[in-house]
Amino acid sequence: MSIIDIHIHLSDIESFRRTAIDLSSVDYTAAGLKAEFDKNGVVLGIGMGVTEQTKGAFPDSSSPNPMGLDLEPSVPPFLMECVGINPNRLTGEHALEELDKIEARLQAPEVAGIKLYAGYYHHFVYDKIYGPIYELAERYRVPVVIHTGDTYSMNGLLKYSHPLTVDELALQQRGVNFMICHLGDPWVMDAAEVVAKNPNVYADLSGLVVGDAAHFERFMNEPLFMDHFRRALVYSDHYEKMLFGTDWPLAPIGLYAEFVRRLVPDRFHEAVFYRNAFDVFPRIKQRIAVL
Ligand SMILES: [Zn+2]
Repeated sequence: MSIIDIHIHLSDIESFRRTAIDLSSVDYTAAGLKAEFDKNGVVLGIGMGVTEQTKGAFPDSSSPNPMGLDLEPSVPPFLMECVGINPNRLTGEHALEELDKIEARLQAPEVAGIKLYAGYYHHFVYDKIYGPIYELAERYRVPVVIHTGDTYSMNGLLKYSHPLTVDELALQQRGVNFMICHLGDPWVMDAAEVVAKNPNVYADLSGLVVGDAAHFERFMNEPLFMDHFRRALVYSDHYEKMLFGTDWPLAPIGLYAEFVRRLVPDRFHEAVFYRNAFDVFPRIKQRIAVL
């Protein structure tokens, strides 16, 4: 079965480098990612753009827009990019210039969407600071991908990353499709309801386990842990809006795929691991065609 991994990272972020070494034991390079993709039948990945100006600064309030995949000189052919947004530079002296740069980047064929780091940046997603971003998303017909749930940094603020905040946004912006990351974990029931209620909200199943084989073994064999996610998936009953992603380098691709296979009933595997991605990211079609 062909797989699309709609949530990976390939940016020079110190905490990702450390996680790859200390926790997940992956080779955090484009070559390392390609080797894992090939081994597991992953034909395309979508990288979430993010940058830091000084080592360890993520979430960096000084990063210029748009934030991209800067670990390698360019986006590798087996990847697409969601351009990361730093809302702190959408006001004041840089604002117009930065919006122009975001708009120019959205016209690149390898760009699949826009990524917001809710919680990492301290603004609600329905705040007017993001208004111009949603206008661009609608005009260029790209989805807005939103971090929800726990933040991978103690400097995040959870009230901004709670999945319920996306409900208000989805109602305000019915012309834009949204994908909430990590099923809002640990607020997975709230995320499931936001997906079920709003026709323009999807969710990814990435980043739910971070670590190596021993760590996966321990958690996949803990029924309470697995049932925490299964309950939300069963309640939502919208497998056509759930997408496979890993959050690599936070976890090895093969182990993560096995974890999601165990959460999702067999009959929905083809949709979750491959087909649903085309509904959220329309530009995948052209990218796949030239691979
Ligand atoms: Zn991520």
